[in-house]
Amino acid sequence: MGLTTEAQRSHKGPQRCLRYNHHVKNLLLPPSEKRKQFELRALALRDFAGVDGSQPLDPFALAHFARLLVVDFDQVEGLSPESRTHLLGAGGNEWSGGACSRTLPNGWRLVILNPAHGVQRNRATLMEEIAHVFLGHKPNRLAVIGRNATVREGATTRETLAREYNHADEEAAYAVGAAALVPYAALRSLVFQGRQSPDIARRFRVSRQLAEYRIKVTHLWADYRSLQNRER
Ligand SMILES: [Zn+2]
Repeated sequence: MGLTTEAQRSHKGPQRCLRYNHHVKNLLLPPSEKRKQFELRALALRDFAGVDGSQPLDPFALAHFARLLVVDFDQVEGLSPESRTHLLGAGGNEWSGGACSRTLPNGWRLVILNPAHGVQRNRATLMEEIAHVFLGHKPNRLAVIGRNATVREGATTRETLAREYNHADEEAAYAVGAAALVPYAALRSLVFQGRQSPDIARRFRVSRQLAEYRIKVTHLWADYRSLQNRER
């Protein structure tokens, strides 16, 4: 949908607006069929969490329902000082977190997040683990996973080395998790308001990279860029 259509729409009468809002609430989904499916699952997750369209979603509150126990990296025992230093230092970019495939006696699974990545990236990593659970994915081995939102689509190198789910499940969990954090309808509205990605990211409490990844995969990038240029 072009910019003109968007501008025209906002100048229609109240009845139109109402219908438009109704449409937004129920049907406004990204253009591609694959993204539509991811978005519907993400919206179901947000519904479950009880957050409305533009509120940020807190994965730490949802983790409980997915029976995921988030533990602090510092609480992990059995790591040598060398391993610890490597995982937080030179190797800190190679992993962002992961869930143990084996469950605890009470049925919960442990999730460890990389403290060096900051809370915004931790939220995306945890959201992906939650999505795996809600989508019913079955992990096949213990692993720590590398993540990079900007090269995520089509990236294979790091994932291949440390994948714990099959490729389709990995893609779906990451995409659904990201969509749950940054839902399309609210994102689209912010893009058409001419908001910049750091501002959008702040609203949803995610990294700028994740906000831009969402703008791109939902086909809003061209509109985003042209609005940004116009504003300058
Ligand atoms: Zn995963």
